[in-house]
Amino acid sequence: MFLTCDYHTHPQGHQVRPYTAELLQPWIDQCRAKQIRSIAFTDHDRYLAGINFGVVDSLREQNPDLEILAGIELDNDPVTSGNGLRWVDKNWDRLDFVLGSIHYFSGETEMLDRAGDTSQIEARGVSEAFDQYIRELEKLVSRGHIDCLAHLDLVKIHGLSPDGYDPVERFRPILEIVHRRGLAMEASTAGWRKAVGEQYPHTAILRAAVELQIPITTASDAHSYAQLAADYEKLAAVLERAGVTQIARFHRHKSRTI
Ligand SMILES: [Zn+2]
Ligand SMILES: [Zn+2]
Repeated sequence: MFLTCDYHTHPQGHQVRPYTAELLQPWIDQCRAKQIRSIAFTDHDRYLAGINFGVVDSLREQNPDLEILAGIELDNDPVTSGNGLRWVDKNWDRLDFVLGSIHYFSGETEMLDRAGDTSQIEARGVSEAFDQYIRELEKLVSRGHIDCLAHLDLVKIHGLSPDGYDPVERFRPILEIVHRRGLAMEASTAGWRKAVGEQYPHTAILRAAVELQIPITTASDAHSYAQLAADYEKLAAVLERAGVTQIARFHRHKSRTI
């Protein structure tokens, strides 16, 4: 299987960098170099001030050979996500694709996925940390306004997992909710760039998602155009092992498989 969609990208990186043709065109050029046919821009909702739908529209006009989705990664940031949610609600019809992510444990003001910082996991105990993370996912899904869950088992990022960890046993309840709500789930290469050294989510979780017929998107979580479609050959092999035969494409919040 050759993967042709990247539905998790951050043109602005980790700051507000207003959308311009100069900022976005290198991502499109990189799509052509990597044979990507469909890309979603999904900057973090805390940088929504930089998003400009008019610039995306003219990028589409300049590059009619590619599908360009306007998207966002909406998370559970205790400070900014309320505003992010209102913005998504207001701009729903201009957006094609909304990723939902958990980056925070309840009551924390620092992200749980900061490189090298295992303190939040250790303070809770690994098993309890996984349970709390999954509860946050459930809250995120019930809050609504998302199309697809990003990096479903991000809590493993630091390479820590509970004793006797069974990924499917832990994540099946959230997969069933995802299925009932008709949401999609991404398969992401970003974990290979982190301490855990494994794609998101675990192969067994992907297999369980296939059984539930959950649409699966493919993603790099690139924070630079150089990372676009990173490790896609490796991801294709994982998807084949997991029995994934179809990849979801999105347009105006509607998915179809290819
Ligand atoms: Zn994320
Ligand atoms: Zn991201």
